[in-house]
Amino acid sequence: MELDREIAGLLLPWYEKNKRSLPWRADREPYHVWLSEVMCQQTRVEAVKGYYHRFLTALPTIEDLAVCPEEQLSKLWEGLGYYSRARNLKRSAEIICREYGGVFPSDFAAIRALPGIGDYTAAAIASICFDLPCPVVDGNVLRVVTRLRAFRGDIRRERTKAEVRQALAPLFDGVSSGALNQALMELGALVCQPNRAPDCGVCPLQKLCSSSAGLWREIPFKSELKERRVERHTVFLLCCGGAWALRKRPKKGLLAGLWEFPNLPGDLEAQAALDAAAAWNCRPIRLLRHTEKRHIFTHILWELPAWVIECQNPADGFIWASSEEIKERYSLPTAFRQFMNETEIKENPYEKSD
Ligand code: SF4
Repeated sequence: MELDREIAGLLLPWYEKNKRSLPWRADREPYHVWLSEVMCQQTRVEAVKGYYHRFLTALPTIEDLAVCPEEQLSKLWEGLGYYSRARNLKRSAEIICREYGGVFPSDFAAIRALPGIGDYTAAAIASICFDLPCPVVDGNVLRVVTRLRAFRGDIRRERTKAEVRQALAPLFDGVSSGALNQALMELGALVCQPNRAPDCGVCPLQKLCSSSAGLWREIPFKSELKERRVERHTVFLLCCGGAWALRKRPKKGLLAGLWEFPNLPGDLEAQAALDAAAAWNCRPIRLLRHTEKRHIFTHILWELPAWVIECQNPADGFIWASSEEIKERYSLPTAFRQFMNETEIKENPYEKSD
């Protein structure tokens, strides 16, 4: 695949005029760019803004991140999902402090070697912060380039990404690498958008584009993901004197090390749920409510039937915390946080009124 050298000359002035004002574009500080790139993976830009400010207010430097307690980090990340991203940020910060004296490395290979930093993030940091000629290839860039060339390669395949990266490389001669990468991504975000007709009438690259009207439905081509595995887990909202049982998830696997409401595999009937609460030594008094929610991960769908159970004994093995304490101190991943409304219902619908 070849791309016209004229692209940079047409795109850069358009970018200067049309780029969104985003908090992480205020400077080229590698910590800021790195954090925003990691937060924006899998999360909408609008949703990231608040998290970004909160995170940097709490942890203004890489050194602060490196020594941040796990609980505080999870709380700052709560609701963003994909918690391994936060853990990798901290691991990388520790490495930067230990091996680079707290200064973010400026070499592509060293950036790429940090935990949680893949080709995309490394190229973004290297180009935006250090002006290295590294093409960024994310979903926006893939869409723009494949439409420009009417290219039907599967954008899930590494080979397609490599082809696009190779085609982009010559465009970086003599231009600001960071600006060109951001301009391509911005065009994909604002004009050549996903799942809808591109706004070709305002596109600075229209005269170079090989896509005809209607082709946006076919390009970019993306093969189907394998179907998600469905798992059912029964969640226990165990309430004892206004406090709710929480425990930590295992250190490895899905949502590793995060807080959760106790749960067991399968769909437990009422009596089985009471038996399980008794086996945990919580001395259940009665079932208050039953509810059900679901949570979607990339490869797994959790179906989550849940029992709200009043208990007499705040058994060992759990932390017992009020609804307010949970909100302030414990970071619950979204899969479990969605049950928090159950901890705020005061009345018991099963109780008879006189
Ligand atoms: S002309 Fe249309 S299809 Fe081509 S790159 Fe621009 S917005 Fe995308």
